[in-house]
Amino acid sequence: MNSHKGNLFILSAPSGAGKSTLYKALLKADPQVRISVSHTTRAPRAGEEHGREYFFVDVDTFLDMIAEDAFFEHAQVFDNYYGTSKQAIFDMLDQGLDVILEIDWQGARQVRQLYPEAIGVFILPPSLGALQERLDGRGTDSQEVIERRMAKAVSEMSHYDEYDFVVINDNFDTAFAQLQSIFSAMRTRRGIIQQIHGDLLNDLLSAQEGVQ
Ligand code: GDP
Ligand code: ADP
Ligand code: 5GP
Repeated sequence: MNSHKGNLFILSAPSGAGKSTLYKALLKADPQVRISVSHTTRAPRAGEEHGREYFFVDVDTFLDMIAEDAFFEHAQVFDNYYGTSKQAIFDMLDQGLDVILEIDWQGARQVRQLYPEAIGVFILPPSLGALQERLDGRGTDSQEVIERRMAKAVSEMSHYDEYDFVVINDNFDTAFAQLQSIFSAMRTRRGIIQQIHGDLLNDLLSAQEGVQ
């Protein structure tokens, strides 16, 4: 049986659906939740901090980590490597923390193979029009990047049926409440309670003589 005390969540969505806004709100509201920080070989951008946006490592270190089977999943994007390390995730899960991987559906497939207990949550926008408006409104991407992301959105969304939960991010507060309730419900699954509250269960059941 899975011996981890925390749950591993995969959060995916087409770009602009609101997954960063949702998980950031969750990190603030719930001290038991953490986001996984990826490793990358690209140079930090202005304002980025080692250990916050990414763990910035050189190519040799990254290749050593691949050889040591240190990654849950990894990929080469443009000229750089990106990967999610196992160690950091398992350390957090062992401490009873819930860990979020913000990854796309391809990474999700790799993670599920290694860790079938991972819980998938897919975030959908209420419409394609709203998705476009949010990408425009975010003001972080050029028109060309937005067009590329919109063009990719439908094929990304077609993978929603590989996920356990689907949250439609129309009204933000409603979507956030749904996300919180998913995390909360997954924490009360029997297997998790057995991991966390084994002593209590033993106490409660040790005086069971005569009880049917
Ligand atoms: P965003 O979509 O606007 O949040 O833009 P980003 O450039 O941050 O991310 C683009 C895509 O990369 C998203 O679909 C993310 O889910 C995905 N992504 C980010 N980190 C990882 C990762 O560690 N593994 C995988 N497989 N995908 C990732
Ligand atoms: P993602 O991480 O999925 O690419 P973001 O979290 O960056 O998406 O959200 C994209 C934009 O949409 C941001 O400007 C965010 O403030 C906005 N947004 C997120 N959720 C909602 C919502 N429910 N209603 C309106 N705007 C939203
Ligand atoms: P950026 O350099 O803009 O932060 O990220 C570039 C791209 O790398 C992202 O769009 C995302 O697809 C990908 N990426 C980031 N982290 C990871 C990771 O840990 N694993 C994989 N497979 N891809 C990642």
